[in-house]
Amino acid sequence: MHIVLISTPIGFLGSGKGGGVELTLNSLVSGLLGQGHSVDVVAPTNSKLLAGSKKAKLHFVEGEEQKSWQHQDYYSPVIIPDNSLLSGMIEKAISIGKKADIILNFSYDWLPIWMTLNIEVPIAHIISMGSESFVISNLISIVYSKYPNNFAFHSNIQASDYPFITNPVVIGNGFKLDDYVFQNYKNGPIGWVGRVAPEKGLEDAAYVANVLGEKLYVWGIVQDESYAMKIEKSFSPGVLEWRGFLETNRLQKELGTCRALLNTPKWNEAYGNVVVEALACGVPVIAYKRGGPSEIIQHGKTGYLAEADDRDSLLSYLKIIDKIDRKDCRQWVENNASSNIFASKVVNWLNTVIKEYQSQQLS
Ligand code: UDP
Repeated sequence: MHIVLISTPIGFLGSGKGGGVELTLNSLVSGLLGQGHSVDVVAPTNSKLLAGSKKAKLHFVEGEEQKSWQHQDYYSPVIIPDNSLLSGMIEKAISIGKKADIILNFSYDWLPIWMTLNIEVPIAHIISMGSESFVISNLISIVYSKYPNNFAFHSNIQASDYPFITNPVVIGNGFKLDDYVFQNYKNGPIGWVGRVAPEKGLEDAAYVANVLGEKLYVWGIVQDESYAMKIEKSFSPGVLEWRGFLETNRLQKELGTCRALLNTPKWNEAYGNVVVEALACGVPVIAYKRGGPSEIIQHGKTGYLAEADDRDSLLSYLKIIDKIDRKDCRQWVENNASSNIFASKVVNWLNTVIKEYQSQQLS
């Protein structure tokens, strides 16, 4: 299959601004290449593909970024800036896509979804967030009524944010497992990984560390400075140990030394890459029973699920974290979330989209 991928219009690949989409795109590319498919990636200038995905053809587009939807009002209208990066990426993808089997879109935005109804190449969408925009959700429902197969979700609970989707295509996610080394530390620090932004709930993990009089190791891009400073000021000095945004190899090395990862999202997390990355290193995860992580973590086996927003419940699970066998954490990822498993699910799905599209063309 020849597939053209459209990256996120928020940050170049490698910047961290695009969140989990950056790693998901890379894992998928490496899985697809490994299965012999041909892949073109259309992405913002300065984007870099990771080692396993470098054989894909990378096409750069310059332009003005979109504003992330999770940081806008739910009822905001769609804004497309002058010299739009997103429309430039779509244009480029369509010109390459004319000779390809399908275009696969990773950007959570109105324009590429609307294009589904208006171009001759089939275009499928990996929806990377829950419902974060009224206008986009409405558009998805319109496109879905004509092309019910063209949307895939990372988890069932994410898809449930779109109540009109009756039988969601759920593809999970995948990780290049060679990149993550299993470590058997039992007494390491507590970790937290994510974009430092309000929807990620860093304050609840800081609360737990503060009560224990421990440091919380924090990895990730600070997307909202004032939010980060507010948390810093709310707890004892030095509770937050800012480790910065690291590339995967260094991140997994440091993360693997933790005795637990706390995952405390305040929104309906579509999947939660960082949860699986921790498990891949053998680190058990204590997360809120909300969004993707609640479908990933096996309560009592690979970590614990606390009632959403119940910080003291996080604390009590942390006290019994040594009951988890770290090997079970790694094993779950090997059995469920390798890049090869992920690529196979995506290819099956895309084949359905292409077939449906061909039969609509004939009728
Ligand atoms: N990440 C990283 N380096 C860091 C911290 C985070 O590369 O120091 C990446 C991590 O690998 C993951 C992404 O940031 O792929 C966060 O994705 P997630 O799905 O957890 O949340 P999102 O940001 O998409 O809401």
